Amino acid sequence: MANIVLRIRTVFLPMLFTCIGFFLVLNFQEYWQQWRPVTRELPLWLLPIAGLVALQFNRSRLAYLAFLLVIYYSVNRSLFIDSQYLLSLKEQIFLFGSLSMVLLLLMKDRGIASIHGILALSMFALCAVLTFNLDILLNHANKILMPTKLAYSDIIISIWLTTTLIIGFGTIIKNTLTTTTISLSFVLWSLLYFKPHSIPADITLLGVAILIFISVLFDSYRLAYRDELTGLPSRRALYNLVLSLSNKYCVAMTDIDHFKKFNDTYGHDVGDQVLKLVASKLSKVTGGGKVFRYGGEEFTIIFPRKSVEQTLEHLEAVREEIQNYKMMIRDENRKNTNKSARNKKTNTNKSVSVTISIGVAQHQRKQDFDKTLKAADIALYKAKKQGRNQVCS
Ligand code: GH3
Ligand code: MG
Ligand code: MG
Repeated sequence: MANIVLRIRTVFLPMLFTCIGFFLVLNFQEYWQQWRPVTRELPLWLLPIAGLVALQFNRSRLAYLAFLLVIYYSVNRSLFIDSQYLLSLKEQIFLFGSLSMVLLLLMKDRGIASIHGILALSMFALCAVLTFNLDILLNHANKILMPTKLAYSDIIISIWLTTTLIIGFGTIIKNTLTTTTISLSFVLWSLLYFKPHSIPADITLLGVAILIFISVLFDSYRLAYRDELTGLPSRRALYNLVLSLSNKYCVAMTDIDHFKKFNDTYGHDVGDQVLKLVASKLSKVTGGGKVFRYGGEEFTIIFPRKSVEQTLEHLEAVREEIQNYKMMIRDENRKNTNKSARNKKTNTNKSVSVTISIGVAQHQRKQDFDKTLKAADIALYKAKKQGRNQVCS
């Protein structure tokens, strides 16, 4: 389920918005045509800025994409080269862009000013050498393959179809906003080549710049506000939500019982798996509760507009649900300290269960959030003291 939500967020929504954007641009030409003198200049500014922003957030692939496209656009605007000559290189430029996007999709985000950066630039250079000498390569191939003769246009279409397949599969498998941005740029790039008169290059490249900005922005938001292990909103997101809370709300602090012992028995990796499973159960709490990973094995639930009495049945339900939840975990016998035994990892599935204790408190007038949180913590301590696996207020 979480995977489907992630896929919708990282693949389908950006695609849908790009389609809507494309539709609007196509159907409301009269609005942007008058701005063409401005839009023609914008990619020269926005693409480098998008590239620098991407670099700042360590999205090197998006930075490469932006820089490659701004080079293309500058060349295309014949700032450096005569346009007749450029026109004769149309196919090669298209293939070079397509292959570069495949490279971007397959590589990882790594520092540009490092060995990885040099490697990436070498790969782009290799793509350039191959594509700009395609006719020579084709002549050689045709000599070897005689009497079969490969046509130049067929080769271009075959390479493009292969890149489309790789990019399509890569986007679905990798399932990240960055790969979706690269594949959408590839779609726009292909449109620019096959349908050059539908949307002008400056508008298309502005679209790519916007995609890069949005991708970097959303990814950084997710990094800042989502907990990596459980996928739940983080403590920072909790304090962000607090700003929008009204006077009436409840805070519940939940803590896994004897989790240190659990880690000692099954190992930290199994502990991590259990944390994820507990988090996913907690996130389904009813009664409008919003769940955050506060830190370690502690989670906070906020119930907006609820009194303590109104939250109890929901908290009891989730506590019981976790108590009865038999979790299947991969036990890799990592606890063995003996090195040779550790190398012979035996993967067995076993069922484990944990319990949680919960303390809940209601926000009082003129009280700040931290005081309410402290009250919930005191209630949690009470639950622990009274024997754990219970809800206290
Ligand atoms: P209590 O019932 O009193 O809460 O006992 P406890 O052992 O759960 O309490 P304590 O706070 O002493 O220990 C919390 C343990 O949670 C310590 C640490 O091993 C474990 N823990 C915290 N964060 C993580 C994590 O991200 N992954 C794993 N596997 N364990 C974690
Ligand atoms: Mg704890
Ligand atoms: Mg604990």
